[in-house]
Amino acid sequence: MRETILLAQALAQGLASGPLLLRTLPAKQEKVMRTGRLILVLGDQLDHRSPALLSADKAKDIVAMLEVRNESQRVWSHKARTVLFLSAMRHFAEWLATNGFRVEYTRIDEASAGSFSTALESLIRKLGVTELVMTEAGEHGVQDEISAVCRTCNIELNLLPDSHFLCSLDEFRQWRKGRKRLVMEHFYRHMRQRLGILMEDGKPAGGNWNFDRDNRKHFGKQGPGLLPDWPEFEPDAITQQVMQDVTGILPDNPGELVGFNWPVTRDQALVQLEDFIVNRLPAFGPFQDAMWQDEAFLYHSGLASSLNLKLLSPREVIDRAVAAYERGDAPISSVEGFVRQLLGWREYVRGLYWTEMPDYLDSNDLDADAPLPAFYWNGKTDMACLEQVIGQTLKYGYAHHIQRLMVTGLFAMLLGVRPREIHEWYLAVYVDAVEWVELPNTFGMSQYADGGLLASKPYAASGRYIQRMSNYCAGCRFRPDQSTGDKACPFTTLYWDFLMRHEKRFADHPRAAMQWRMLKRLDAGKRKAIRARAAELKGLFADQQ
Ligand code: FAD
Ligand code: SF4
Repeated sequence: MRETILLAQALAQGLASGPLLLRTLPAKQEKVMRTGRLILVLGDQLDHRSPALLSADKAKDIVAMLEVRNESQRVWSHKARTVLFLSAMRHFAEWLATNGFRVEYTRIDEASAGSFSTALESLIRKLGVTELVMTEAGEHGVQDEISAVCRTCNIELNLLPDSHFLCSLDEFRQWRKGRKRLVMEHFYRHMRQRLGILMEDGKPAGGNWNFDRDNRKHFGKQGPGLLPDWPEFEPDAITQQVMQDVTGILPDNPGELVGFNWPVTRDQALVQLEDFIVNRLPAFGPFQDAMWQDEAFLYHSGLASSLNLKLLSPREVIDRAVAAYERGDAPISSVEGFVRQLLGWREYVRGLYWTEMPDYLDSNDLDADAPLPAFYWNGKTDMACLEQVIGQTLKYGYAHHIQRLMVTGLFAMLLGVRPREIHEWYLAVYVDAVEWVELPNTFGMSQYADGGLLASKPYAASGRYIQRMSNYCAGCRFRPDQSTGDKACPFTTLYWDFLMRHEKRFADHPRAAMQWRMLKRLDAGKRKAIRARAAELKGLFADQQ
């Protein structure tokens, strides 16, 4: 108990460094610990009931948690993302200690915390353990790094499957086997049937598998009106200390911390969940694609970071949403739309990631070779939609799905940005960013870099789509209906240029041909003018590097 209190106090005061609990234990107990196993809990494995923790022998095993500097330097992370991860980790370490686990916690400002490998290797050697137990890592590169350290230190690595997910990797491999074409919808129906989620007498609840047609509303000229507030999570002493550490150690990283308001504990995540179910889920479905100036969150849940840190399980989140439908508190279109994101997309992209990596990272099917425009890192552009979405991203570490897909992602694809560069940007700037979910969304859904493995056709659109789904264009100096001339919307110019660049490939494509057929309406003169304007834009953005 003494160790527990010490750890809690030290974490709050920022004093915890090195093997805090070992230092405070009597020598006899230290000896017992050396014979135990090292249980490694990664920053995105903050699940109280993870297989690795459930397997722990509290009397002998030692739980290791490592904060490392190069995690935030390797990808130049948003300060809020780093603060969220570290604060959630420190709170989790406190919970572990309070619940009788022996914790070894390495802080970001310690000498060994340079990289994951150095921190882990020094811990293994110091403790003299012979076995490392962990729930399988979410990220391919991290798992490789840990395996390499275990080989170097000549210790056994015991990997346990991650029970957080509703579809195990084995089940996904099985589902995938023999399929010529992968379709998320097929996977989603398989999952609903297998788990009996939103199923009534073997049929989909509400009579349809899909309510997408009801779910593409925009707010109209009148706007969204009064929106429900989000719950507030005042930074406590631990979070404040992390903020100080992060601004001290990573002062040049992008993003703001003012107004940091993300759940850092399971209790806070449960509050966020409950608030969403009651106040926002009913309108989530119809307005999930809509955007509005200065309204970052609208009816979205803001639960992705809590889910990805594993503070919440997808099953409990889905069950709460389905219960709201069954009570008559939320319509089927909203609840199905929400369940589809979690049971469908989230599980699907994870399966895809693990069955495609590491080669997936090298995909560049559209041969995109432009640099990422510099304004992605500061939001300084006269395109109102990008200024808004990037500005809000740097402020909160958040943008909702359509802002990511149809504003920042769309622009990068139309411009032909190198997939790796836009991938690194997405991984850096969102509080919920973890590679297993970010990479397939970026390479597959947003950039078509994987050549259609995830999306059946490129999500290409002109400025008119943004005009329809938001009010951004009303305050912009460009005109979404113009593709040439001084007022031409860069999205619209680059859209037609994109269609021309990839005409050969998609003109006969079964799903995309319709869109490409529109090109036939352009005469040679218009095509030439669009190409010239597009080249001008590309030169301009490249020069801003
Ligand atoms: P809501 O709109 O409230 O959705 C509910 C939940 O469904 C989310 O919390 C999330 O867990 C899940 N979800 C929704 N859409 C997806 C999807 N396409 N794939 C997987 N899960 C989904 N999501 C991440 O969690 N981490 C990322 O790093 C990430 N990177 C993305 C990059 C790009 C280019 C795109 C287009 C999407 C990305 N997404 C990512 C998916 C999605 O945009 C976010 O999950 C969502 O915007 C998070 O906000 P929210 O929690 O309010 O979600
Ligand atoms: Fe964006 Fe074009 Fe609309 Fe301006 S006109 S806000 S650049 S879509």
